[in-house]
Amino acid sequence: MSETNGLRQPKRASEDLFLKLGVVPVPDSQKVAAAIQHLDEFRHKVRSFVMAMESCVKCGACAENCHTYLGTRDPNNIPAGRADLIRKVYKRHFTVQGKLFPGLVGAQDLDLETIEKWFSYYYQCSECRRCAHVCPFGIDTAEVTMIGRQILFWLGIGPQLHTATAGAILRTGNHMGLTQAGIIDTLDFLSEEIAEEYDGLKVTFPVDKPDSDILYVPSSADFALNPNTLKGAAMFFHYVGANWTISSRITEAGNFGYLMDQNRVQREMVTRLMEETTRLGCKKIVWGECGHGWRATKMYVPTMSDLPASRRIPMTHIHDEVEAYIKAGLLELDPKRNARSITLHDPCNYARACGHSDNMRVIMNAVVPKGAFTEMTPNREANFCCGGGSGILFDDPKMYQYRILASNKKAEQVRATNVEVLCAPCSICKAQLYPMVKEHKLPVEVVGLIDLVGNALVFRD
Ligand code: SF4
Ligand code: SF4
Repeated sequence: MSETNGLRQPKRASEDLFLKLGVVPVPDSQKVAAAIQHLDEFRHKVRSFVMAMESCVKCGACAENCHTYLGTRDPNNIPAGRADLIRKVYKRHFTVQGKLFPGLVGAQDLDLETIEKWFSYYYQCSECRRCAHVCPFGIDTAEVTMIGRQILFWLGIGPQLHTATAGAILRTGNHMGLTQAGIIDTLDFLSEEIAEEYDGLKVTFPVDKPDSDILYVPSSADFALNPNTLKGAAMFFHYVGANWTISSRITEAGNFGYLMDQNRVQREMVTRLMEETTRLGCKKIVWGECGHGWRATKMYVPTMSDLPASRRIPMTHIHDEVEAYIKAGLLELDPKRNARSITLHDPCNYARACGHSDNMRVIMNAVVPKGAFTEMTPNREANFCCGGGSGILFDDPKMYQYRILASNKKAEQVRATNVEVLCAPCSICKAQLYPMVKEHKLPVEVVGLIDLVGNALVFRD
């Protein structure tokens, strides 16, 4: 198979990268049979997949609700069209009509060309689930995408970005390949910055501290791209007197395993998280600002960790922690320190997958002055994706151009608010919104929500 087939595809991972993840790529001559076998297994295991394959009536409601179709007008980016890339094969192999009258029911044999289309279109879907939100049958095309990506992974097909990042997390415990020394150095530097910016305030970042009550799991991207998010979290923990730590072995709120391989990489990270929490004696895990990572944790860790309910370690998101302190009246906050007009991007994985919308608004309304916060339209679970969800942060020219097209709708939403600051409390959203702001020439600064909390906290001796 080649990448010069005219399809919009990300740079492909080498065989070597797959071997490092324990996957031996399937030869071209066996790919079709292997893919059909995997589809057969999925239809026996996942009832919602069968529902997605058999219930779509092509009503079209999902089309204008998918930012990828709105940005590209490519019919294969209509959610129903995207699912059809698998649905046609499903019908051909697993339905009586498809076996007897393929032409009449739109059934189609699988071939290498179609597998190439899977690679293209399942990596243009950001798994945002806005289609599921509007589909009268609740068909979740993100789930079809996940199954498509999983089969591609087993065949040895995947983007270099996802495959290399999954390799990095297995090797180092984080996506950026940070070592313990690098982590400590960066955090020391951030302590100094806090002291400089906040009148000598002494805030430390404990790393691998035994007998900590709280394990804080930040996004490793925050070390390089979003340091104010890390600073905000540390200032909050310092303010409330928490006994907390960051682990140099699990320094990653994201989980690229979840985005391409839920069987090996994601499971491995869940196991390591549990081991590390036990090793450090932590009684609670607090998750940092990462949408897909929080979804992967909140929704999958309890079942994947194999621990009985009685031994499960409580997990919360830092937004839930801050919200609880605000509601209890335990934080003194000065909203005037965040005086610029601001809007909030609801990360899809928070708002549509985790019921995580109210807490962000409780925090926002406490840390900015009255009247400074303007909602986007639509918002909460109806919000549009930033266009980078599920890690499709490709920077090769064709895919970068795609990312910007896929952000058209978000840019339109932000522009309509006419604000100065765009709050995006997820590290993948931020990584997408930085270039979106630049390419769409939006006069806004992108920040995290915890950044605003740190900035508003009033420390008294
Ligand atoms: S909204 Fe649902 S039923 Fe309608 S075309 Fe889309 S996936 Fe099919
Ligand atoms: S999950 Fe999002 S990106 Fe994917 S098809 Fe549905 S609306 Fe489009």
